[in-house]
Amino acid sequence: MAALEGLPTSLTLEIVTPEQSLVTDHVDEVQVPGSEGFFGVLPGHTPFLATLAVGQLWYRKGGQRFYLSVAGGFAEVLPDRVTILASIAERAEDIDVARAQRAKQRAEERLARPAQDVDFGRVQESLLRATVRLQVAALVGSHMGRTDANVAGGRVP
Ligand code: ATP
Repeated sequence: MAALEGLPTSLTLEIVTPEQSLVTDHVDEVQVPGSEGFFGVLPGHTPFLATLAVGQLWYRKGGQRFYLSVAGGFAEVLPDRVTILASIAERAEDIDVARAQRAKQRAEERLARPAQDVDFGRVQESLLRATVRLQVAALVGSHMGRTDANVAGGRVP
């Protein structure tokens, strides 16, 4: 179907953390872990602002998906642009799996044998960050780079 006149046909995606710029690219679709749930953005989306949860973010260029883990921050959506100001984020391929496994194990041990001064909220957040990192890291080399319909449709074969 031909693009409607005046409507953008792609999105400029910018993902930054306080430390670095992780992504600047032209993409076709973005899925973001918002505090109120995941939301998807296609070109021409209504403008809005959202806060970010801890979770997996992906963007698609053609049939190729790219994954990141994010933890907190803000998203600004405009019809032709998505800006992610993440408190913490890593690209899938940059995630140190052994480190995330250690963090997960530490958190699980703290939850299983709580010391008196354990801050449960912090431990649970740490466990969630580590779990999301491991899930995102596992997607490297499995779906990224593949162009089949299952990947574009979001189903894990
Ligand atoms: P850890 O206990 O291993 O430091 P954490 O969840 O406490 O994990 P964060 O506070 O979320 O770590 O992140 C601190 C910094 O370290 C951030 O810049 C984050 O991107 C980076 N980071 C944390 N864990 C990993 C990981 N497994 N791989 C790559 N970068 C990581």
